[in-house]
Amino acid sequence: MDSYGSKAKALAGGTDILVQLRGNRFDIEMLVDVKSIPELNELSYTVSEGLSVGAAVPCIRIYEDSVVQQSYPCLVDAAFLIGGIQIQSRATIGGNLCNASPSGDTIPALIALEAEAVVFSKRGYRSIPVEDFCVGPGQNGLQDGELLVSIKFPPPKLYSGAHFLRFIPRNEMDIAVANVGVALTLDSKKQTVESARIALGAVGPTPLLATKASEFLVGKEISDDSLYETAEIAKQIASPITDMRGTINQRIHLVGVLTRRALQKAVERAKGV
Ligand SMILES: Cc1cc2nc3c(=O)[nH]c(=O)nc-3n(C[C@H](O)[C@H](O)[C@H](O)COP(=O)(O)OP(=O)(O)OC[C@H]3O[C@@H](n4cnc5c(N)ncnc54)[C@H](O)[C@@H]3O)c2cc1C
Repeated sequence: MDSYGSKAKALAGGTDILVQLRGNRFDIEMLVDVKSIPELNELSYTVSEGLSVGAAVPCIRIYEDSVVQQSYPCLVDAAFLIGGIQIQSRATIGGNLCNASPSGDTIPALIALEAEAVVFSKRGYRSIPVEDFCVGPGQNGLQDGELLVSIKFPPPKLYSGAHFLRFIPRNEMDIAVANVGVALTLDSKKQTVESARIALGAVGPTPLLATKASEFLVGKEISDDSLYETAEIAKQIASPITDMRGTINQRIHLVGVLTRRALQKAVERAKGV
């Protein structure tokens, strides 16, 4: 990858890039299959370090993993929604992230969960917070010769919960009109929010961390009103376009609805309901 520079691209599951190459979206000379690199196939968890998902681990391995199911159910929500079973058997969350689609379904979940992308090149390793990884529609911040190795998630805190939701006009196999990932931590009485991260997709040129809404919720008691107000603030950061999937107004409305519902579910999970 280093010697071919911008003329090389990685191939993980191939569910985006093969379609794009057939559509002549890129002019490349080298496609590097990364699926056989052992480090990229590791899925590991420790109580102190949290979860590490190799960039070549397919979605099905993620959502069938018992540790992920128990400790990172928000990741299951997102990985389970990517395409159907055939796509999930190949598609990776690394590929979803590197593809940098504004509507990429795992990205708001990764942002909410405070994930970091671990990247390698002959210059060494570096870590990029996922909210800074996508720099424009279909554009990521990787430099030539850089490979995504893994995505790391901090260990879940006590009384924390997270959830991912998307809206599509049919039951499955469609591109999100809007999607939302949220994560929060409650105090020991499970009444007040101690930390929160709300991330939005398909309503801007890149998936967005809704900082103002996230900060608004911190210190608030859980109530229908506080969740509603937070969701209304999240709408302010959305700057969607109208296209064949939805209008600007519909997408902004959806941000409110999805944020509120995702927060309600995250609270339930944090309370252990
Ligand atoms: C029928 C169908 C249904 C789909 N449904 C959904 C859906 O519901 N939601 C959704 O979000 N997406 C969906 N997709 C899109 C796609 O499946 C996902 O984005 C998937 O997660 C991409 O992963 P991949 O491993 O196949 O990526 P690839 O196609 O292998 O790669 C995607 C991009 O990432 C780069 N890349 C991959 N791995 C690395 C790496 N390790 N380092 C650096 N760059 C890398 C590639 O060069 C390429 O540019 C669908 C696609 C199809 C064909």
